Amino acid sequence: MRFLTTWQSPAGEQFVYFSQNVVEVLESHLQSDSGTEAGGILLGHVRGQHLEVLEASEPTNQDRRLRYFFERMIHGHKSLADRRWQESNGLVRYIGEWHTHPQEIPSPSSIDLNEWQVLAQDRIDRRPLLAVIVGRQNLHVELVHADGRRLEFIAE
Ligand SMILES: [Zn+2]
Repeated sequence: MRFLTTWQSPAGEQFVYFSQNVVEVLESHLQSDSGTEAGGILLGHVRGQHLEVLEASEPTNQDRRLRYFFERMIHGHKSLADRRWQESNGLVRYIGEWHTHPQEIPSPSSIDLNEWQVLAQDRIDRRPLLAVIVGRQNLHVELVHADGRRLEFIAE
């Protein structure tokens, strides 16, 4: 696998774990220069302040595969999140978003930052949004709080 499964906050007090099948889904969508952006939602468990990512939804046919999670959320991904929530009695929940960049080491665009902020503010459970960008060599992993605070995670 190209990407590591365990990420921690700079102070080491907070962890994000990606299950192996999530890493495999993300790695199957690495973006070439000519390719289109892919993305979806991240589902998993909240364990105290730690996150365990168990599922990454794949792009659906309705996705325009260009940009904009907003449009994606309205279609299949939102109903997947609702279904998992019900199947798991509320244990598996929506925790964030992923999308690809044609960069080796990805960094968020100003559009990404704006969208994440809106998504974080829209969360009913008031939890921070897990925002992941899939680059060719590495992931960008951060938590975005509704008040604008951002916390970038590093691979362990
Ligand atoms: Zn982006």
